[in-house]
Amino acid sequence: MPKRLSPLELMTKLISFPTVSRDTNLPLIDWVEDYLNSHGITAHRYYHPDQPKAALFAHVGPWEEGAVVLSGHTDVVPVDGQPWDTDPFTVVEKDGRYYGRGTCDMKGFDAIAIWAMVEAQARGLKRPLQLALSFDEEIGCTGAPPMIEAMQPVLPKGSAVIVGEPSMMKAVTGHKGGQGYSVHVRGFEVHSSLLPSGVSAILEAGRILEWVNATNAEIQTAEPTPVAAMFVPPFTTLHVGNIQGGTARNITAKDCRLDFETRVVPGEDSEAWKQRFVDHVREVEARMQSVRPETGIDLEPLFDVPGLRPEEDGEAEAMVRAITGDNAAHVVSYGTEAGQFQDAGYSAVVCGPGDIEQAHQPNEFIEIAQFNAGVDFMGRLLSRL
Ligand SMILES: [Zn+2]
Repeated sequence: MPKRLSPLELMTKLISFPTVSRDTNLPLIDWVEDYLNSHGITAHRYYHPDQPKAALFAHVGPWEEGAVVLSGHTDVVPVDGQPWDTDPFTVVEKDGRYYGRGTCDMKGFDAIAIWAMVEAQARGLKRPLQLALSFDEEIGCTGAPPMIEAMQPVLPKGSAVIVGEPSMMKAVTGHKGGQGYSVHVRGFEVHSSLLPSGVSAILEAGRILEWVNATNAEIQTAEPTPVAAMFVPPFTTLHVGNIQGGTARNITAKDCRLDFETRVVPGEDSEAWKQRFVDHVREVEARMQSVRPETGIDLEPLFDVPGLRPEEDGEAEAMVRAITGDNAAHVVSYGTEAGQFQDAGYSAVVCGPGDIEQAHQPNEFIEIAQFNAGVDFMGRLLSRL
């Protein structure tokens, strides 16, 4: 039997693969699969339909339903243009911290999860443990849903999912969901003195902005639901984060582009929010086309991530609370794959080492104490299983 690597050795290995979301993650997946195989664990893959990327999932313990699922993503955000003091793809220990891209978000947790799988295989378990490593989390959580679908017919269905995004090892039971669209308003250029015979993409985009403002104002007059009240701010928000358009003061703009997003309180119907937006856009478009039929508004979906709803008597939450002793309520403002597992019928919670403040930053790090707290947590989870 080959050597069992420590959590730190595993993290060091994982970080040496520069698995930025736009690039392949196959060398990392190959390595993890070989490592698991060498310890007698069979791994399975789900391949991206047209890019060299794969998700990996595996099961140890009795071949039955009810596994605890350890969920992490393998991709990291780019380091381009960031002032790093050390090589981002080498783990460097300094000042009580491990530095490197992904130490915090979230190869630190991935390493601990892989360590736990091999430990579990060696010790033997009464209740199964599963590992699920996705791709493309950082570009809108698009890799997890097909992975979850691919897992179901291959592995016995797990019941409680721990998504190890950095939460300082607190049990996070809720986050907002959201959707994003890139919007391209295509107008018709005329001299501005002839305004009614043209279609200004900028002025029409302004109708979308008006709707965003009016809708935000309307949302905020409503009494927050108990779930909404856990969030700051305690309501769904709509936002336009950038806008470009036009060529000259006296020409009706031919093009205007903007990025729109929703951040939806979990439990609210996010499909309905999407529909309200699309309906409004189609109204604006119809008005444009009554002047110039060749104009229009193109929508390109950017992301669509369900929120994580706090569960009543959730199994995942109860288990994490029993291990950490943390009984406070925590919700976060960032999205994760936890809502996607929940939508697929799993109980899900977010709990992982490190602070989200360090994610995506130059000189990303994880406190060694946090990394060790993650290992400690996993040791206690294994004892329970
Ligand atoms: Zn992450």
